[in-house]
Amino acid sequence: MKLRKVTAAAAAALVLSLTATACGGDDGNGDAGSDSTAGGGGTIKVGIKYDQPGLGLKEAGGEFSGFDVDVATYVAKELGYEPDKIEFVEAKSADRETMLARGDVQFIAATYSITDERKQKVDFAGPYLLAHQDLLTKADSDITEATDLNGKKLCSVTGSTSAQNVKDEIAPKAQLRSYGTYSECIAGLQSGAVDAVTTDDSILAGFAAQEQYKGQFKLAGLKLSNENYGIGVKKGDTETVNKINAALEKMVSDGAWDTAVKENFGPANYKNEPAPKIGDIKS
Ligand code: GLU
Repeated sequence: MKLRKVTAAAAAALVLSLTATACGGDDGNGDAGSDSTAGGGGTIKVGIKYDQPGLGLKEAGGEFSGFDVDVATYVAKELGYEPDKIEFVEAKSADRETMLARGDVQFIAATYSITDERKQKVDFAGPYLLAHQDLLTKADSDITEATDLNGKKLCSVTGSTSAQNVKDEIAPKAQLRSYGTYSECIAGLQSGAVDAVTTDDSILAGFAAQEQYKGQFKLAGLKLSNENYGIGVKKGDTETVNKINAALEKMVSDGAWDTAVKENFGPANYKNEPAPKIGDIKS
């Protein structure tokens, strides 16, 4: 009886100390916005997009949905965090490297393409999806090829590979409008402020399938680039990269990857590429 009391008290103290760790915020020890003891009862901060239907979306009721959300939730679980221990944080395209470097989040799953330039600043696990850059226009637009974009207003997002590719090769003669998010580009397309939006086909398909846009937009269906989605972690955190790679492999082999694809891309009728092999980056 006595022993049991002691045990209960010790357990209570442990819960208190873990709670303190979880709520303590950034204590400057570099454990990337989370309790460093995986599965120890703390929370984990994960960066996702908030405005990309089918990939990373914060819904009106505050819930999160999308393929990246499902991948992030699976990975977090493998790292020892149940879904109720995940704190999602918005990771806009231009903020991702800084968020990881500062330790705001432990990892980012946000349509985040693996590139050599980004690898100077962050490390990546994956890839876990292969997408391609494409164009979205109004349904009655004459724009069908990248060459039709000369002189046209083309929207993309600051800090994205999509905007960079436009300048470098896809349409250097287009008038590039760089906005902060893709939802702002889509609003601009609907209002006529821009003539086309360019980014990954996975993202554009998700927007085009939204109830409020049904029938209004069309995807050109051009594979203008290879976008190998990786999970970003702080530079040098090889241990987390290895654990996430193991989680991604498991997600594919146990069928959870296929389920997430069907649930999230099915409604948009997005024909995704098969699951890539870890480390197989298509240039
Ligand atoms: N996948 C591309 C990138 O990482 C475009 C989508 C995005 O901005 O998240 O830049």
